[in-house]
Amino acid sequence: MYIKINTLKELENNLSYLNTDSFSVIEKAYDYAFKKHLNQKRLSGEDYIIHPLNVAFILSTIHADCDTITAALLHDIVEETDTTLDELESEFGPSISKLVDGITKINKLNLSKENDSEISTQRKILVGMTEDVRVIFLKLADRLHNMRTLWALPVENQKANAKETLDILTPIAHRLGIGSIKSELEDLSLRYLKPDVYFQIVEQVNATKKQRDMYVSKMIESVSNILNEHGIKHEIKGRSKSIYSIYKKLDKGKKFNEIYDFLALRVFVSKEEECYQALGYIHSKFKPMPKRFKDYIAMPKTNMYQSLHTTVFGIDERIFEIQIRTYEMDKVAENGIASHWSYKEGKSDMQNSMEQKLQFFRVLMDLNTTTDDNEYMKSVKEDILNDNIYVFTPKGDVIELPIGSTPIDFAYRVHSKVGDTMVSAIVNDNIVPLDYELKDNDIIKINTNKNQSPSYEWINMCKTTGAKNKIKSYLSKNEKSINVLKGEEILKSELKRRKIPINSFYKEENLSKILHDIKCTDISEVYILLATNKINIESIFEEVKNDTKEDLILKKTNNKVVTSPMVKGDIIVDGTSNIKVNLASCCKPVYEDKIVGYITKGNGITVHRISCPNISEVDSRIIDVAWLNVSKKYPTTLLIRADGSKNMLVNIIAKTSNTNIVVESIKTLQVDELYEITVLTSSVTELNKYIFDLEMLSSIISVERKFL
Ligand code: MN
Repeated sequence: MYIKINTLKELENNLSYLNTDSFSVIEKAYDYAFKKHLNQKRLSGEDYIIHPLNVAFILSTIHADCDTITAALLHDIVEETDTTLDELESEFGPSISKLVDGITKINKLNLSKENDSEISTQRKILVGMTEDVRVIFLKLADRLHNMRTLWALPVENQKANAKETLDILTPIAHRLGIGSIKSELEDLSLRYLKPDVYFQIVEQVNATKKQRDMYVSKMIESVSNILNEHGIKHEIKGRSKSIYSIYKKLDKGKKFNEIYDFLALRVFVSKEEECYQALGYIHSKFKPMPKRFKDYIAMPKTNMYQSLHTTVFGIDERIFEIQIRTYEMDKVAENGIASHWSYKEGKSDMQNSMEQKLQFFRVLMDLNTTTDDNEYMKSVKEDILNDNIYVFTPKGDVIELPIGSTPIDFAYRVHSKVGDTMVSAIVNDNIVPLDYELKDNDIIKINTNKNQSPSYEWINMCKTTGAKNKIKSYLSKNEKSINVLKGEEILKSELKRRKIPINSFYKEENLSKILHDIKCTDISEVYILLATNKINIESIFEEVKNDTKEDLILKKTNNKVVTSPMVKGDIIVDGTSNIKVNLASCCKPVYEDKIVGYITKGNGITVHRISCPNISEVDSRIIDVAWLNVSKKYPTTLLIRADGSKNMLVNIIAKTSNTNIVVESIKTLQVDELYEITVLTSSVTELNKYIFDLEMLSSIISVERKFL
C-alpha cells in the first residue's frame, strides 16, 4: 500500500537528498499554495492542499529536483484559483512558472469529453515532454495521486481517466523506465476498468500468499548461503508480481495456477561482475530452465533497464524467477530517466540523457512533424506505445519496433540515411526480401549503396509511420528538385523565344509582381507549376507584357519629339548638335534595329539595340536616337550552333555567296559545334532573311545575334 502524507514536515523528511537551502523555497511554495487553496476541498472531502502535497511527495520518492518539487506544490494554483502565471513568476521565478504552465496546459483539456480534444491533450502531453521532461514527471505524479483518490469521482469519469492512464501514461512511464510509477498506475487503472477481474486476482493472490511467502523465504535463505560461501556481499528480496502483469498473462490464456507457480526474487550486489558471479553460483546449485536466461546488462533494454534474468528449478521443485542487479541498476529500473536528475545543471542534463539514451524520445521527435493531431496520435500509438518486438543491430544494439515491421522500418529507425540507401537486408545470416516480417531477437544487417534511393513501393512494404514519412519526404524532395530544374528550363527558353533579357525578367520588381499575381511565394514554386503543367506559361507573360525592357524604353522615348535634328552620319540624335556618335560594339546595331542612345562620360553618345543587356531602362542617361535612311553596311556578330557535321562551314559560305552579306570573320569556339561569325549587312530585313536561310540548313541548330 502506498504512503499518504498530511504535513509539510513529512515531505521534508523525504527530501534529505536535496541541498538544505532548497527548503526555504519549498516551504514558501507550500505556504503560498496553502493560502491559495484555503477552503477548497477535493471531491474526496479532504483539504485541497493534501493533493499537491502528495504529488510533491510522490516526486520526492524518485528524487525529483527542487524546481520540480516546488512546482508540484504549486501545480494546481493557476487552474484552480485566481492566481495568474505572472504572479507566480514574480514570486517564484521563470523556471517554476514554466513548469506550472506546462502542467496546467496539459491538464486543461482533460475535462472535455470530446474525442478530438482528448487526442490533442494526448499530443500536448507528448510534446510537453519533448520540451521539458520534468513536466511529464509532474503529470505522472499528479495522475498517480488522482488515481489513488479516483474512488471519489463519478463512475463515468473513473473509467475515462483509467483508460487514458492505461493508453498513454503507463506506456510513457514504461518508455521512460519509471517502473515504480508505471506499475502502480497499471494496477489502479485495471481496478477501475475491470473491477471484477481485478478483485478476483487480488483474492487469489491473497489466498496463496502465506504459502508463497514460505517458499520465497526458504529460497532466499538458500541462495543467500551460496553467495555468502563465496564472499559476495548481497541483499535478496522476494518480489510479488503486479496484479496487472498477472492479468496480462491470464488475458493471454494462461491459467492462474500456472502463473502463480512462478515465485520471484531479486538479488542485489555491489558490482557488475558480481552479477555474473552470483548467476554462476546460483546455476551451479539450481538447474536453470532452458532459454529463460536474459542478459540485459550486456544488452540493456531500450528504456535503459539492466539486470540478469534467469528461471531456475528451486527448492521443493518450485520454479523461481531470479533477477540479479547492482544497486545502481536497480535505481535505473525503478526510476529510469528519473535517476538522471542533475542538481547542478538541472533540466538540460535530464533532457540530454533522454535524447541520447531513449529511442522512444527520438522516434517521438521524428513524428512531431505530422501536423494532423489524429494522425500524430495514431502514429505514436502504433509506432511506440503499442506492443513491440525487439531486434538487434549486428553490434548488439536493441531496436524496438512495432509488430509487423520489416527491414525497411529497421533501416529507417537506425538512421534515415541507412534507409534511403538500403539495397538488401540480411536477417540472422540469410538474405530476406525487403517486406520480410521481423521477429523478436532477429539480428539485422542492412546493406547500403550510396547510389540507391527509395521507391514508391517501399511505402507499402513498411509498417511504421516514421519510415513511411521519411520515404515520402525523400521522394517528394527529389521530385521537387527535378521539377524545379525542368520548370526553370521551360521558362528560360520561353524568355529567349520572346527575346526578353534574362536579367530584366529576374529583376526584383518584375518577379514580385508575377509572384503576387499568380500567388506563389518564390520562383521555384513557379518552376514546379510550369513543370507539372499547372499553369500556362502565357499567364506569366500576361502579367509582365507591358513591363519588358524594350517596352519601357519605347514608352520613355516615343513620347519625345525629335526636335532640331542634328544629322551626324547615319544617326540622328534628339536635340543635340555636334556630338560624337558610336555604334556600340557589344550589341552591334544594324540599320532598322530598334535603337537607343546612351550618353557616355566624355565619349559622346553610344547607340545600342534596345534589347542590349548593357542598357537599363531606368537609366537617366538614355536619350532618343533614330536611323537615317542611308545605304551602308553594318557589322554584326552571329552565334551559330551546329550539330557536329563536318561540312558546316562550307555550307555557310555557300549560303552567304548568294546574298549581299559579307562575312568579315569566323571564330571557331568549338570545332563543328559552335562558331561566331561577324558579317556586314545593310539592314535588319536582309539580316533576318540570312539568319532564316542559315537555320534552314540541316546541320545548323540555331543562329542568334550576339550580345557581348
Ligand atoms: Mn492536480
